[in-house]
Parts: sequence; structure tokens; C-alpha cells
Amino acid sequence: MKIIVLSRNPNLYSTRRLIEAGEKRKHEMLVVDHTKCDLVIEKKKPQIFYKGKPLEDVDAVIPRIGASVTFFGTAVVRQFEMMKSFTAVESQALVRSRDKLRSLQILARAGLGLPKTAFTNYSKDVKSVIKNVGGAPLVIKLLEGTQGVGVVLAENKNAAESVLEAFNGLKARVIVQEFIKEAGGADIRAFVVDGVVVGAMKRQGKEGEFRSNLHRGGSASIIELTDEEENAALKAAKVLGLGIAGVDMLQSERGPLIMEVNSSPGLEGIEAATGKDIANTIIRYIERHV
Ligand code: ADP
Ligand code: GLU
Repeated sequence: MKIIVLSRNPNLYSTRRLIEAGEKRKHEMLVVDHTKCDLVIEKKKPQIFYKGKPLEDVDAVIPRIGASVTFFGTAVVRQFEMMKSFTAVESQALVRSRDKLRSLQILARAGLGLPKTAFTNYSKDVKSVIKNVGGAPLVIKLLEGTQGVGVVLAENKNAAESVLEAFNGLKARVIVQEFIKEAGGADIRAFVVDGVVVGAMKRQGKEGEFRSNLHRGGSASIIELTDEEENAALKAAKVLGLGIAGVDMLQSERGPLIMEVNSSPGLEGIEAATGKDIANTIIRYIERHV
């Protein structure tokens, strides 16, 4: 098969691993920078040009689209779909998963557990917003943040009010969320491929840090999910329509609470923590569907 990894950087761990795993299975593997693709749209003859040459007879694509290039990246994936290539993550699902609020709404509608979350249009009435999610302590998150940057724990009402006012003043969109204290600065990531949890890890923030991001000094270890956690992860990936998903959950007194579902989850952390060849699992998934 001819399989394209849509990635801006061939040297990234996840990109390299996918190429390696595909070549091991005797596929023709190619890295294509989606931001450098030109799309030609015409009746019955969609085309993609990359570095001046048409991309043809592509059996499958694996999108690794960064959040900052979602708009163009998903257009490229959509074009591949029009050309009948299989995609490991559908363009619609990618778009859906990138909209944090829409994702939370879809997950809530499916009956999945979530931290109580509020979103307002820069409401001046910060006191009510705080009250609506049950009061301080609470977590305030920049909507555009990643890797834990722009995630703030406001320990009391005054702190929450001033942080909210500051973000509002900057016209920065935020969500306000109930703080799940009993998670103890840890979260769990379930890696889902084609309706199966293929690996799971627990990430623990460093001492005194409530954020468990590996980029913020957290550490990861393999974990056995409870049935409830496994079912939540599978259902989340399913309702968002994601063939590949990294489902991040907090362990709470009322069961697993989903924080976020990542449609381009990194392979490095999960492969290191679990010792599993997740890249190979992704290639096998594609083989089953092409
Ligand atoms: P990012 O997408 O930037 O990683 P997250 O929303 O995943 O931001 O938050 C970063 C980390 O902060 C999470 O991995 C988790 O450890 C912690 N965290 C986030 N939201 C909550 C919450 N509502 N309660 C407790 N801890 C949280
Ligand atoms: N993009 C990385 C992932 O989805 C982020 C990891 C992190 O924030 O620690 O795995």
C-alpha cells in the first residue's frame, strides 16, 4: 500500500515511528507536509499537488495535524477522502475534536462523565460564572492552550475573579471548570485505535503541580483501566467519530471524567510507558480497512 503520514515534521517521534512501522510491513511510506499541499477542486477530478507534483493512488493517509493548522490541514484530509483514500481519522471528526466546546457538548449528550464546565461570552458577571460551576477552587483554561500552558488553578473566590477578569480584559476565551481535587495531580490517557484501547497510562504531575502534562515535568506509567474507564474512553472516541484518539480522563469519586479527546495523540509517551508498539497497531488498523 501507499500510505501518507500528513505531518509538518518528518523528524517528530510519532511521524518517524509510523514510517518505520509501515515500512516494516512492506508499505510504501511517505511524509507529506499538508501545509505545502495545493488542492485543485474541479468536477469529478479532485487533485492534490505536493511540491509541484500530483499525489496519486494513495491508499491511506494518517493525519498528524497540529492544532494551529486545523483549517487547511482538514481541507487536505477532505480532499484525500474525495480521492477515495482511506483516512485513519476522518476530516469531520478532526474538525469536531478541535472544537473543545463542541466536543464537550457531544460527550455530555452521550452521557459521559465530565468535570462541570462553563463557557461564557466574556461575561462581566464573573461571580455568577464561578457560582455556576460550584465555586472555588476551580480551573480556568485558555481555549487555545496546549500542553498545560494557560491552565490555571484558582484556589479561592478572589483569585478566580481576578484571573477571569484578566483573561476577559485580554479578550482571551476561557472555560471555567470544577477542580477535581481527588485526581491528585494525575490524569489517565487511554489510547484508542479502531474501537479498542491499545494502551493506557497514568500521568502524574511533579510535586506541588496539579497539571500532569509530561511537558511540565510529569511522569507516565502504565495503568490497567477499570471497565468503567475503558468503556468511557471507547464511547468518547466513538461519539466523536475518531478512528484514533487519545482520551484524557480524571479519576474522580464519581467515576472517570473526560477532560479532552486528542485526535493526533503523541506516540512517544504512550509507547514508552506501555512498552507497546502502537505505531504497528495503527498500520494494522489501516490494513484492515483498505
Ligand atoms: P492541555 O490540553 O493544555 O494539556 P488540560 O485541560 O489537559 O490542558 O489540563 C492540563 C492538566 O491539568 C491535566 O492533564 C490535568 O492533570 C490537570 N487538570 C485539568 N483540568 C483539571 C480539573 N478540572 N481538575 C483537576 N485537574 C485538572
Ligand atoms: N500532543 C501530546 C499528546 O497528545 C501532548 C502531551 C502532553 O501534553 O503531555 O500526547
